[in-house]
Amino acid sequence: MESNWIGNRSVPSESTDALAVVNPATEETLGEIPRGSAGDVEQAVAAAKAAQRDWGGLSPVARRAALYEISNILLEHKEELARLNTIEMGKPLFLSRNEIIGAATAARQFGELAVHMRSGSQQAAYGELNFQQRFPRGVVGVIVPWNYPVALGVENVSAAIAVGNTVVWKPSEKTPLTSRRIAELAFAKLPPGVVNLVLGNGPGAGQPIVDHPDVSAILFVGSEATGRRIGESCGRSLKKAILELGGKDPLIIDETVDIEKAAAFTIDAAYFNAGQLCTATERIYVARQIFEPFVEALTRQSRAIVQDDGLMDNVGMGPIVDRIQLDKIVEQVDRSVAAGAVLHCGGARLDRKGWFYPPTVITGVTASQPVMADETFGPVAPCVPYDDFDEALALANDHRYGLAAVLCSTSAPRSLKFLHEVRAGMIKVNAPPRKAPGGTSEPVGASGIGAGYGQELLLELTRQSSIQWKPAI
Ligand code: NAD
Repeated sequence: MESNWIGNRSVPSESTDALAVVNPATEETLGEIPRGSAGDVEQAVAAAKAAQRDWGGLSPVARRAALYEISNILLEHKEELARLNTIEMGKPLFLSRNEIIGAATAARQFGELAVHMRSGSQQAAYGELNFQQRFPRGVVGVIVPWNYPVALGVENVSAAIAVGNTVVWKPSEKTPLTSRRIAELAFAKLPPGVVNLVLGNGPGAGQPIVDHPDVSAILFVGSEATGRRIGESCGRSLKKAILELGGKDPLIIDETVDIEKAAAFTIDAAYFNAGQLCTATERIYVARQIFEPFVEALTRQSRAIVQDDGLMDNVGMGPIVDRIQLDKIVEQVDRSVAAGAVLHCGGARLDRKGWFYPPTVITGVTASQPVMADETFGPVAPCVPYDDFDEALALANDHRYGLAAVLCSTSAPRSLKFLHEVRAGMIKVNAPPRKAPGGTSEPVGASGIGAGYGQELLLELTRQSSIQWKPAI
């Protein structure tokens, strides 16, 4: 069974309950991790607390140097890490390689951004100083999901430590192995206790991190349901919580677009990482004039996607991460079809080893059907026709989530209206629903609280004090 990584040492868990880590393409067991325990978390928090004063007292330039070193190590081990990521998560190897590069880039960026953080000052009398200073929050709990385990783990840990915090990091129990390897390979270059990794599931390891009195802030990326639970716990103990949660993101396609290109764009927006992306397009509103040819093009292009084990060559789409997630997709689509929705392609799990669900185009859906109401997190593209742009905008905004929203159009007035009126943190016109370089945003509604990326994340991860200094009373 894998051990935790605490104080730069392998530390066996106090829990003897094992959770299997399984390759979703082959259903083979890759290893076991502990369920986790409050005792494990206690040790990790103690190590992080002991390390924080010295780490927080370093210059940002010294911390930047450490993050550059971590970034270099990730790049040096790109192939090994990408392979491990693919066999535990399922995504095609080219996406895993990009994920490692993205993580390495983020470590470097946060090291750099932290050096350039500034706070303001006020005018004051001669001999007096009156200014703001940002301080680390202390020990930060970083709890992340399985869809981008390396990118989300490394990025958030790097942001937290760049500004002088120390970290207790809990990867998802579905994809813990690459993170565990990265802790030992790269974060071990830091002083002991700066980054500690605790393995386990939500109740075993996650909740004890959230509840620990010496953890000052929780940086959580995951589902709405868990986010609400963590938010409630943090509210009760008055702990800072940054919550980056789920979405059900709309894509509006108007009649000014090239239909083949719009279909290709939708394939990328809806099926990237087999739809297991928080900002995946999950509701597609199409101008009625082009609805039929668009659905035909989308169906044809969907059928052409090569789906297989992510280690194989030329794979466009891998499996779904596990049986639980696969069953959720199957149930959503089946219930929607039973309620009158129409399948154009896909719609049933592949008859083969592994948890494969094919690209699925579906029409005749209503807002109350599961594929339109709840986050799917799978390669499902529900398409709905609309008659005028105001209606499309109202449909896009008619959801509790507000993570990302996309418009495909060549109309400048519509684009402007969309940018002003759509309710989402990440707003895109003719650009895929993934992070813009350097961009950051706050999710809207049930998609979360707080800026989870970029320079603003460093503000979230520090506290600001107002300082007034006089030489004598
Ligand atoms: P999840 O909420 O089930 O789990 C996320 C993490 O929280 C895991 O590490 C899990 O072990 C842990 N956890 C579970 N219960 C906990 C508890 N009570 N206390 C503390 N930790 C607990 O989510 P998931 O299924 O792993 O991930 C998919 C979700 O993540 C989707 O909803 C997706 O949209 C979202 N997501 C959001 C973003 C974003 O930036 N907004 C990015 C990626 C994924």
